[in-house]
Amino acid sequence: MASWRHRWWIGWIALLAMPGLLLAQPNTAPAVETGQAADFDQILQRVIGPASLEASSTEYDADLQRLRVALPAGDPARDARFRSVYCGSSTWRDPVEGLAYADGALALARDLNDSASQARALLCRAEYVMLTSGTQRGLADVDQAVDMLRNGHEPQLLAEALETRGDILSLLGEQAKAMLDFQRARAAYQQAGIAGEAESLVLSIAVAYRRMGDVEQARRYFTQALQRMQARADWEGVATNLIQLGFLQEEAGAPERAVRPFQQALDVAIAHRLPNTANSALLGLAEAQINLGQGETGLRTLERARAGFAARQDASSEDSLQLLTGQALARQGRHAEALAHYRQALPLIKRNGNDRYLALLYKAQATSLEAMGHPAAALSDYKTYTDLQLRLQGKMRLEQGRLLEYEYEIRRGEFENRRLRSEAASKQEQVQALERVRHWQWLTILLGALLLALLTSLAWRHGRTSRRLSRESLIDPLTGISNRAAIEAEAMRALEGATRPGAAVSLLILDLDNFKAINDRHGHAAGDQVLRGATDAWHTVLRGRDPLGRIGGEEFVVVCADTSLEQAMAVAERLREATTALRFDDIDPALRVTVSIGVAQSQHSDDTHEDVLARADAALYRAKQRGRDRVEH
Ligand code: GH3
Ligand code: MG
Ligand code: MG
Repeated sequence: MASWRHRWWIGWIALLAMPGLLLAQPNTAPAVETGQAADFDQILQRVIGPASLEASSTEYDADLQRLRVALPAGDPARDARFRSVYCGSSTWRDPVEGLAYADGALALARDLNDSASQARALLCRAEYVMLTSGTQRGLADVDQAVDMLRNGHEPQLLAEALETRGDILSLLGEQAKAMLDFQRARAAYQQAGIAGEAESLVLSIAVAYRRMGDVEQARRYFTQALQRMQARADWEGVATNLIQLGFLQEEAGAPERAVRPFQQALDVAIAHRLPNTANSALLGLAEAQINLGQGETGLRTLERARAGFAARQDASSEDSLQLLTGQALARQGRHAEALAHYRQALPLIKRNGNDRYLALLYKAQATSLEAMGHPAAALSDYKTYTDLQLRLQGKMRLEQGRLLEYEYEIRRGEFENRRLRSEAASKQEQVQALERVRHWQWLTILLGALLLALLTSLAWRHGRTSRRLSRESLIDPLTGISNRAAIEAEAMRALEGATRPGAAVSLLILDLDNFKAINDRHGHAAGDQVLRGATDAWHTVLRGRDPLGRIGGEEFVVVCADTSLEQAMAVAERLREATTALRFDDIDPALRVTVSIGVAQSQHSDDTHEDVLARADAALYRAKQRGRDRVEH
């Protein structure tokens, strides 16, 4: 049943439908029931248990109808469970009706103190809230549901709630937080005894990577999810995946390669009667056609999409429809009409809080305004576009860095748990051994002394482990150099130390050139080897006191305390040369690696490391613009 959860984030901005199976086990162990109540419990088990993850949306809906028939009269406890499940039925075509039903289900579950049903009703309500008032609004309900399930008594429901929240956060651009929820969801699924990962989760992770700009990882997870779904004949999942692969190509600037997956998704959706999915595929296809300059074809595809959405009374994609229609018209030189569509799209996009579409809108609007002879207005929109774009890129970079940090935390947490468990187990064993020999006094004393020694050494080892862990949390595991947090702290310290007049701090940002191509051509492992090789080589040319750290995928920072801009430029030049000299004969003797470097110097005493880094980043951008393999300041 993973499948029908997928639909809602396939869509451009809005959520088309929510986890139908926001359901879990009833709170109390059911007594042996007969007749109708037993039937009801059995069907309920099917819709909320692990089996629900395997069911198609049609099977799931059919079970909901059966459940409705089996509901015994005058049984409020079962009624509460029923409502919290039936809330996600496709009976509620109109989200306003759905919302009212969800409110009723929530109130009943609350009166009966049935926390699982409350959580389920909250998750269901969140879907309708998002459909009627925008994505952001739904988050509060989902937060509350996660909170209610924190005790872990309902692991599957908790997993689904976390997955849902991850999907929403991802949609709102909070990729690192989303990833954290996905990791927890994975653990909760495992706790619920659900073998492997839910496919929907693999797909969610892929989407978050896509949105984070990590095309490589995204493609890996999409391919994994696609294969599993094909093997299981989960057609809705297959189509959703194909749509996502289309978006991935679209964002990688290859609309010509996006057409095929969108078209395939459309074919699958039509063949298997999945109207919502078909509508999303049509939207994607239209975008690709418009970006390929096929305005006329794009408009026809949009017309089909519009009719499809109208047939489902689904207004959630109105913003995309308006934006794309405007773009298609602009392609045909019909700029005045295009502007009218952009005006309609703007408030809808703002309501959904999606900066990526907002940026696209301003860019499109600027183009049309310019074409109509309004250069001032065009310029202003273009500026807004550039600002948004810079913010988005900064955000992506930030999210990548954050993810790296979160991953440490997760790993550290797991390590700590394992250690505590094994410590508790070994202590218990020692106590039992002690009991057995209690009547042998001398042995007891001896063992007591041994135990004491053991515990002391355990405590000492624990202290040592904690110290090592806190050291490790500052180190990038791939390259062994400082991570982002550590190098930023170095930069901050250097700037604070530089209060002496005339003393300057210079910061260098290094970004390997065309690194993606190295990954693409030789594989991720080779890419990793290049990253390690480069940092090793840089260490040999850096002065010992100039710390080096990794701030993101293939981006690094060097802190040069007490260093003028001129000296820092010389350091950068040495780093650049060391990079060009790198050889990786075991990967490919012809492989050459280059780096672009931006250098900036602190200018006054209240310059923060962020200020200086921002200037170095701007210089790096210039180095890239001017052809790469260069140093700029
Ligand atoms: P440019 O010269 O313009 O900076 O191009 P680029 O290809 O280097 O830049 P881009 O930001 O497009 O790609 C960076 C790539 O680095 C994308 C990502 O898959 C890869 N990457 C990020 N972290 C790692 C990592 O830990 N290992 C490997 N092998 N690759 C990584
Ligand atoms: Mg980069
Ligand atoms: Mg790069």
